[in-house]
Amino acid sequence: MTTENSIRVLKAMDNNMFKILLIEDNEMNRDMLSRRLMRKGYEVVLAVDGESGIEMARSDAPHLILMDMSLPVLDGWEASRRIKADLETQHIPIIALTAHAMSGDREKAIEAGCDDYDTKPVEMERLLGKITALLELSNISRIAEGEFT
Ligand code: MN
Repeated sequence: MTTENSIRVLKAMDNNMFKILLIEDNEMNRDMLSRRLMRKGYEVVLAVDGESGIEMARSDAPHLILMDMSLPVLDGWEASRRIKADLETQHIPIIALTAHAMSGDREKAIEAGCDDYDTKPVEMERLLGKITALLELSNISRIAEGEFT
């Protein structure tokens, strides 16, 4: 793809083309974050534990996953590993969210297959920047191929 074409494709990207799967067990965090994402135009689907998160990654085919790492049933570390081990879902970018900026959590998240990492409480502008960057990276070729037109 030429540079000119890439720029054209990036300009054609619109948040409402993208579905985000938010996997978060804390109801307050889930409500707040999903409302903010929807206000930015994203479609948001929700899961409340690691196991249903994996199922929804398959059934709902989101463009990106926001994964709380501290989850019931199956934690975010294991859920990320399984999503990235599954041919059907391994292309979906995952941003790991952990409650504290523990040194080593970023490395652990990358090891589990996550594409990026952020800490809670979420700083919205920073998180939106990471979401946009990953969506551009993973979808630019699909947009160019006309999948979204
Ligand atoms: Mn949690």
